[in-house]
Order: sequence, then structure tokens, then C-alpha cells
Amino acid sequence: MSLKPLLPGALSDRGQQMTLGVMGGGQLGRMFVQAAQAMGYFTAVLDPDPASPAGLISHYHIDTPYDDEQGLAQLMQRCDAITTEFENVPAPALLTLGAHRPVAPSSACVAVAQDRIQEKAHFVACGPISGVYPAPYAAIETPELLAAVPADLLPGIVKTARLGYDGKGQIRVKTREELAAAWEQLGRVPCVLEKLMPLQSECSVLVARGADGQVVSFPVQANTHHDGILAITEVHEGAVPADLAARAQASTVAIANHLNYIGVLCVEYFVVDNGAGGSDLIVNEMAPRPHNSGHYTQNACDMSQFEAQVRALAGLPLPTPRQHSPAIMVNLLGDLWFNANGVRPQASEQPVSPPWAQVLALPGTHLHLYGKLSARPGRKMGHLNITGGSVAQVRETAAKVLVLLGLPPLA
Ligand code: ATP
Ligand code: MG
Repeated sequence: MSLKPLLPGALSDRGQQMTLGVMGGGQLGRMFVQAAQAMGYFTAVLDPDPASPAGLISHYHIDTPYDDEQGLAQLMQRCDAITTEFENVPAPALLTLGAHRPVAPSSACVAVAQDRIQEKAHFVACGPISGVYPAPYAAIETPELLAAVPADLLPGIVKTARLGYDGKGQIRVKTREELAAAWEQLGRVPCVLEKLMPLQSECSVLVARGADGQVVSFPVQANTHHDGILAITEVHEGAVPADLAARAQASTVAIANHLNYIGVLCVEYFVVDNGAGGSDLIVNEMAPRPHNSGHYTQNACDMSQFEAQVRALAGLPLPTPRQHSPAIMVNLLGDLWFNANGVRPQASEQPVSPPWAQVLALPGTHLHLYGKLSARPGRKMGHLNITGGSVAQVRETAAKVLVLLGLPPLA
């Protein structure tokens, strides 16, 4: 990528307004578009859905499939640089775009993140630098590899190598028989078997790396999942022990550097019992893009993860972000629209808007809704960032919010 910055509000070499493009029109694309527009860029989105959250607010929306030659050609005509908002964008499409425009992250980096087998091999390769390794695992691609899986990986979790998200494409197994049945059930596609680890907690780290190799990291996020989906992120003093946080940051920087990565990268970690009364860190997976656990940066940091992505893509400076307020992020899933009076969702029930007025009456609450036209249980509809003057205050507000929304209390 060229090191010459693409300055916002300027005419580009194409003789047009400086325009940043994004493959994918979901909520991450939408918040990228919002950050780019706030800085004065024009934006273009490629997403086949005519009502995609990002497409709805972008200057240009190209609604072709991701691998459509004409769609990709239009995106290149419109844009001065292009990024992606989801890792399952076809890697060949990014390769095509990358031949003509700066693309960050590169198709090679996205290809590694798309495949758990390659991803884990990359983590293992980075281990000697940071001392952080993935959980013990084995790749299962053939019946021979299945038969050769070491017994000490059980009990474990079988995960498809590609296309898993929010805990989908995963089966927990205790015995070899269950393992064989799980691989069958997953269609005998390439998988990994990962040893089931004694999780104490989960955390994640965002870094942003520029084309000049400069890399900055954000504070470490403590994450709580419900039913395999991120529910709560807390970022404040005491949320993650300082020694583990420093190791997680160093590991994430190593992972980004080793890939020659450009853009925002998020890496997820497990905190596990080390068997000696302490904790150890295990690297789980990475997302080659801004991440749900990084949404708190929008209201709690002097640079959001989306602005960082804009800066990295446009070749602008990347100063170290500073968190100016403790923060808690609450994910708003579609279930909330069905939860009136504590009633569980029924297909026949009409969605009801959650009590936003009461939530927004609490100080330091910041509502982000993604403009999705219909709520469905499990669908990510938005998130709520909570900021305040102290950790105690933020936790107190979060506790009230969770009661109002009918969600489980903080751990
Ligand atoms: P997403 O992309 O939404 O983060 P995913 O579907 O790619 O999720 P993972 O992050 O690999 O899946 O796993 C989902 C959750 O399952 C983890 O956050 C963790 O709670 C649990 N989990 C995954 N692997 C293990 C493991 N080896 N041991 C114990 N728990 C695990
Ligand atoms: Mg995950």
C-alpha cells in the first residue's frame, strides 16, 4: 500500500471526492461508514442486500453479490481504498480489488483469519515471541486424521475450519464416538478439534496497524458470552488483571506484525486456570476487522475502533488511543423486542420496542441501533455503551439498564 495519505474532503487522483469503500453492509460496515463520513470522506458499500444497514446510509451502494465482476469493478471506480467488515468475504474478490486499489486488511491476512487451521498455525508461529499459544488442537480433514486425534484432546469442541460465528458450527464431544458423529454431522468438512479448556474468563484485544508498520493497541476488553454470543464487554481498571492484559496486548501486536497486517485487528483470548492456583492466557481466534467487543471505544476512547480503521486504510497517523472513561457495553439482541413483561419470544408475537426512554434517562448511556428493519431473536440489533466517572458508577448504571431490559445481572 502507498504511504501517501488519502486526505478527507480532497479530490482524489481519480478527480472525484475522496471515497472509502467497504465490502459488506452489516452493522460493522455501517459504523465504519459513519466514522468515515464524520471525517469528510465519501463512502461506498458493496452488499447484495438492498436494505443493508451500511448501504442505507452510504453515498454509494452497489447491491451485487460479493464476487460479481461488475460490482467489484464499480466499487473500484468509486473508491480510493477499500476495506472489509466481515471475514467471510471471498478472498479472491479482495485479491481482485487489491490489484487496483489499496485494500486493508489484505486478502492474504483475511484468508488466514477465514480458516481456523491456518489461523492456529499462525498463532503457534507467533507463540515463541509472546509466550501465548492456542488451546491444544488437531486438524481433522480426512478419516485418517480423525482416527489419529490424540485422546488427551477429549473432552473437546469440534469447530468447522471455515464459516463459524457466534458459536455456530461447533459441537462439544466427550468420546471418540461422539467425535466421529460430530464430524459426520458437520458434513465431513475440514474441522479442528480443540481441547475443552477450564475458562475463568474471556477477553479480547484490538490493535490498529498502519502501512508504515506502526501499531497501537486499545485497552483490553473483558467479555461475557451468553449462548455463544457476546453479551457484555467491560473495559475498566480491574476488569482484566494487569499482567494478563499486558501479555494479551503484546501477543496481539506480535500476531499483527507477523502478518504484516494493515488495519484494525481483534484477537480473542481465554483466561484459564493454570493448575497451580493462577491464571494463564490462551489465544482463541482473530477477526480481521473492528469487533463487537470494541464498540465501547465509540464513547469511552478518544479514537473509536472505526475511526482507527478509517485512519489505517487512508494512511493517516495512528496515535495511541486513550480511554477517558470506564465503560460497559451491552449487546442488544432481537430477543429484547419480544421480551415485554418477561414473556419469551413466540413467532406470533409482535415485536415491541425496548424501554429506550427509561434507559436513556440514566446518565452516560449511549444507544447505537443499526437500522435493521425487523427484529429476530438472536439478531444483533444494536448495542448500548455506558460511561461514567468511576467504575462503581458505570457498574451501577449498567445494573439498572440490565433490570430495565430484563437481562441477567453483571457477573
Ligand atoms: P465468534 O466468531 O462469535 O467469536 P465463534 O463461533 O467463532 O465465535 P469461538 O470464539 O471459537 O467461536 O467459540 C465461541 C465460544 O465458545 C467462546 O467464546 C468460548 O466461550 C467457548 N469456547 C470455544 N472454544 C473453547 C475451548 N477450547 N474451551 C472452552 N470453551 C471454548
Ligand atoms: Mg469467538
